[in-house]
Amino acid sequence: MVLHRFLRALEACYGGQEYHNAVHAADVALGVHYFIVNFGLTARLTKLELLAALVGAFVHDFNHPGTNNNHEVRAGTERALTHTDAILERHHLHSTFTLLATPAFDLFGAMPADDRELCRKLIVDMVLATDLKRHVDIISTLRTLAAQHGHAAAVSAEWTSPFQAQALVGVPLLLAVALKFADLGHSFKPFHLHKQWAERITDEFWALGDRERQLGIALSPLCDRHTDCDVPESQACYGGQEYHNAVHAADVALGVHYFIVNFGLTARLTKLELLAALVGAFVHDFNHPGTNNRHEAQALVGVPLLLPVALKFADLGHSFKPFHLHKQWAERITDEFWALGDRERQL
Ligand SMILES: [Zn+2]
Repeated sequence: MVLHRFLRALEACYGGQEYHNAVHAADVALGVHYFIVNFGLTARLTKLELLAALVGAFVHDFNHPGTNNNHEVRAGTERALTHTDAILERHHLHSTFTLLATPAFDLFGAMPADDRELCRKLIVDMVLATDLKRHVDIISTLRTLAAQHGHAAAVSAEWTSPFQAQALVGVPLLLAVALKFADLGHSFKPFHLHKQWAERITDEFWALGDRERQLGIALSPLCDRHTDCDVPESQACYGGQEYHNAVHAADVALGVHYFIVNFGLTARLTKLELLAALVGAFVHDFNHPGTNNRHEAQALVGVPLLLPVALKFADLGHSFKPFHLHKQWAERITDEFWALGDRERQL
């Protein structure tokens, strides 16, 4: 059967990187499935779009060389000559469509031409959206959606999401966000699983740093095994701000958990809402630039009004911690404020 042959070939040729390997691909495909099913989006997609979503997830890191786009340029690789932007993403697509060009592996071979074309376009859009250069744009699109529709979702008695409305979120954006959720989402897995993935990406980064040292080129960010050894901070890609960092995110998630459990509110929330609450806490300051005026992302977690309140409690609640902990957080936010002031003076 063609599907079976295609998946076996994909697995065999995925590349043996510590993190970007066939298990990551399977994990991300499961994550995309989880996102679509659990957020009630199945009815939004045709069978063809669902197929494209899962195949896009499977192939999104196919034939990964364990590098990043800036490295490809600095090292002057063959791939950087072939593709001038989104080098790795285009490389994964090129490798995928090369495999599909062999009839024995052509998953879409028996489909009408229009369907093939649509699948190809959806997969290309999905994989290109994983380019980190596009990350800020996608997040700002989500923030706009949250600002415009988050409140309605928060006060609604039922689970609602702008993702359920075709007029608000088209299929390409829906698939891009599903893939990003699954691709970056191992921080929200049970800790023993998250720890394994974090160790794997760290090993892959350090191996790249070693190769770059041998090549005599600048080391990629987070890739120096001698200096980039703060795994919780580096693997999560949080901005290295004094206060708004990965430790703050974990702290706020614990605070949200404390608020919900200790105020006897667990029974008020479904599993899905609990997940949304914790995910919302973790991401509420994701990639924080150390500047101000950006708390609208909180609306993304809003199911009942309870969740924004829980998040605010945890986010601002360090004054209620034992004094030695409160003092640390207070010193950190002061340092971050002063650093922002210094930058503003320079500007
Ligand atoms: Zn990936």
